[in-house]
Amino acid sequence: MDSPMLAAMSDLAVEMRAIRHDIHRHPELGFNELRTAALVAGRLRAWGITVHERIGKTGLVGVLNAGTSERAIGLRADMDALPIHEATGAPHASIHQGISHSCGHDGHTAMLLCAARYLAQTRRFNGRVHLIFQPAEEGQAGAQAMIDDGLFERFPCAEIYALHNWPSLPAGTVATRPGPIMAAADRFEVTVRGTGGHAAQPHLTSDTILCAAQIVTGANTLVARRIDPNAAAVLSVTCIHGGTAHNILPSEVRVTGTVRTFDPVVQDKIEAALRELVEGTAKAAGCTAAIEYVRYYPATINDAECVKHVLETSRALFGRALVSDTPAATSEDFAFMLRKVPGAYVWLGQGSDNHAASLHHPRYDFNDEVLATGAALLAALAERRLT
Ligand SMILES: [Zn+2]
Ligand SMILES: [Zn+2]
Repeated sequence: MDSPMLAAMSDLAVEMRAIRHDIHRHPELGFNELRTAALVAGRLRAWGITVHERIGKTGLVGVLNAGTSERAIGLRADMDALPIHEATGAPHASIHQGISHSCGHDGHTAMLLCAARYLAQTRRFNGRVHLIFQPAEEGQAGAQAMIDDGLFERFPCAEIYALHNWPSLPAGTVATRPGPIMAAADRFEVTVRGTGGHAAQPHLTSDTILCAAQIVTGANTLVARRIDPNAAAVLSVTCIHGGTAHNILPSEVRVTGTVRTFDPVVQDKIEAALRELVEGTAKAAGCTAAIEYVRYYPATINDAECVKHVLETSRALFGRALVSDTPAATSEDFAFMLRKVPGAYVWLGQGSDNHAASLHHPRYDFNDEVLATGAALLAALAERRLT
């Protein structure tokens, strides 16, 4: 740690770790982050930062001013936990049965709090920093809930940045990429209906099981045969439900799955092809089929100029930064914020030695060793943009 910024963050490390462990011990699911939000608000106020609560239900925004400029930079952390029973055995393990911070949002919140504290103490910038603590990232679109509550009208941001810990990268490595970095996430549910009946008299029925099986097989050819091999997409069928006994052909079968894409054109194409496949296959089988197709998170698209700023800042602070070759097929609701404001989503390596577990794994725990790195990067991203 050679820069003054990193030295300052190292001084805050003990407190940051205590905050992280406190949040980790008391995880809360999406839109229930009452204790976490109160902890964050209390800390921000104690450091002289104005706090606006209940934005997107349990979200909050801290506003920090210095100098005369109206220009504002947004820094965002997510606060919610997952419905996973923790198996880390850590002294700070969750005290709530079946809920844990298995995605490391406790670390994100602690890092942004630490960056806030540093920026409040030093105020070596001219403008405004909007510290955005959002709820419900895990599948409930807390970012969109904050936007719907007027986040960017009330707290306009010229640019916005967010970090996510990344277990597969070496500890402290900062990585990002211009353009798509996380996938759009869609889910589909197909309901196949037909005439059920006796399994020994299939000619008197329309076999929904066989029809569903053909839909599953057909769906798995769509990416390979209908999408340009140079584009990236994933389609996975994840549930099939139907039938009650060995001698009954059921009248209804449900097939569920997910689609991940990085380009809206590819997304449109897969949805249209799947609808066609479902309708055509059902017709050929003498069944009917309804499809519910929901696009719940868009692709996370980084602004090239903001990515450049992240890479330059990381190189200035740590002497290195990584440009990732490929995006991840997982998804992220920061995507909603990036549709409104240019910015960048950044991965922060967790290291693979003592933090081998992947995100959403019962043994996953955020690596405290990278708290100072992440906090320094967040603070510097704002500071260097508001000179
Ligand atoms: Zn997650
Ligand atoms: Zn996450």
